[in-house]
Amino acid sequence: MKVTFLGTGTSQGVPLIACQCPVCKSADSHDKRLRSSVMIENNGRVIIIDSGPDFRQQMLRADVRRLDALIFTHEHKDHIAGMDDIRAFNFIMKQKIDIYATERVQAAIRREFPYIFDSVKYPGIPEINLKTICHRPFVLFGLEFIPIEVKHYLLPVFGYRIGDFTYITDAKSIEEPELDKIRGCHTIVLNALRREHHVSHFTLTEAVQLLGALKCKQGYLTHISHQMGCHAEVERELPENIHCAYDGLTLEF
Ligand SMILES: [Zn+2]
Ligand SMILES: [Zn+2]
Repeated sequence: MKVTFLGTGTSQGVPLIACQCPVCKSADSHDKRLRSSVMIENNGRVIIIDSGPDFRQQMLRADVRRLDALIFTHEHKDHIAGMDDIRAFNFIMKQKIDIYATERVQAAIRREFPYIFDSVKYPGIPEINLKTICHRPFVLFGLEFIPIEVKHYLLPVFGYRIGDFTYITDAKSIEEPELDKIRGCHTIVLNALRREHHVSHFTLTEAVQLLGALKCKQGYLTHISHQMGCHAEVERELPENIHCAYDGLTLEF
C-alpha cells in the first residue's frame, strides 16, 4: 500500500497575496501546503480521504488517473468543497464514484451539493453512490478501514486506521477507547494547526505529546497552518521519529 499526502495544510495556511509572513513568502516547496487530503493506492485501486477546495489542483498535480472511492472525515468545507470535481473521474471511468461518509456527513453533502440529488439531473453533474459508514470497520478492495472517532471541539470526526497506518485530522481530543484502536500502529498522522492554543485543533505540543504517548515508530503532522512557521524550522525542533508531513510525501507499507 502506498500513501501520498495530497495536501497538508488548512484554510488558514493558504498563502494569501497580502500575507508577508515567512511561510507565505518562503521559496521552500515544503511550505506550499494545499488543504489536507491523502491518497491510498493498493493493487491499482485509488482511495482518497477528503476532497477539499484544492481537490482538482491536487488531482492534476499528482497525475491521478482514477478514483475508486472517496472517504470523508467530516463535513467542514476544507474537507468536502472540491467534491464537485469528481465529475472528471465519472467521465474518465464511465461509472459512479463511491463516497463513504457517516449519515451526518451525508446530510451535509445533500445540503452543499443539492443539484447532485435532483430527480431530473442536469447533464454532466457528479455521479455518486453514497455509502453509509459508522464506527464499524469496513473493507475496501481488500483493505480494512477502522474508523477512529476524534473530537473537533464538539464535532465527532473520523480518522482511519488502515493496517499499520493511521490518519487523523481535525482532532482536539481522542477518548481512551479510540486511542486503543491505534495503539501498536507503526505510523500515525495527527493534525497540528499551530503553536498557540486552538479550540478545535491540536497544537504542535499536544500532537507531539500524544504521538510520544502512543509510542508509534513514526509520527507525521498535518493540517498545518502558516502560523506554525517554516517547515525546516519546525523539523529541527521535533523528536527524531516525528516529522511535518508535506505535500507530495509518500509512504510505503
Ligand atoms: Zn474541520
Ligand atoms: Zn480541517
